[in-house]
Amino acid sequence: MAPRVIVLGRQGAGKGTQCARLVAEHGIIHVSTGDMLRAAVAAGTELGQQAEAIMNSGGLVSDEIMNGIVAERLAEADIMENGVLLDGFPRTTGQAETLEQILADQGVELTATINIDVPLEEVTSRMMARGREDDTAEAIATRLQNYEDSTAPLLDFYAKRNKLVVVNGLGEEDEVFARVQGALAL
Ligand code: ADP
Repeated sequence: MAPRVIVLGRQGAGKGTQCARLVAEHGIIHVSTGDMLRAAVAAGTELGQQAEAIMNSGGLVSDEIMNGIVAERLAEADIMENGVLLDGFPRTTGQAETLEQILADQGVELTATINIDVPLEEVTSRMMARGREDDTAEAIATRLQNYEDSTAPLLDFYAKRNKLVVVNGLGEEDEVFARVQGALAL
């Protein structure tokens, strides 16, 4: 069956980079909810208009909106055929519960959730260094706090379901990728 993989990790942990490498290696479809929202903002859609201010402040777009976007995307043929790498979703327990239901309705199983683990101090300095437009010191702090409050509980959620693998995200990109490959064994 086509793999369904969730990638967790603090902002700045290297999720985007590792996802790109997994896509290149396995032909799996990368779904980044952050990229989807930024595309909607750039296109000026209704969703984009709703999301823009929330994103700029480092807050979270509502579960209702996010669940709808992801449910639609996961039903598309390319994902049913090639599988999906979910990056940036789920981010709350509500989203994780919805995802569980979506996959059950599709009759497919979650392959694994991988946590790319990088300590808080390290991701903070990485994010300050990359200088993205929404990376103000205040927004970074808010996003990292959101992660601890809303997303870190998902580690437990997936561990309880025997679906969690953790890799050390410190070190060279190649080294981390080798760990990711070893942990996922896709
Ligand atoms: P970061 O990991 O730096 O926060 P992302 O690209 O994953 O960057 O997301 C950018 C922003 O988009 C988030 O800060 C948040 O406002 C919004 N967002 C993305 N995914 C979700 C989600 N699953 N739930 C709520 N908000 C989201």
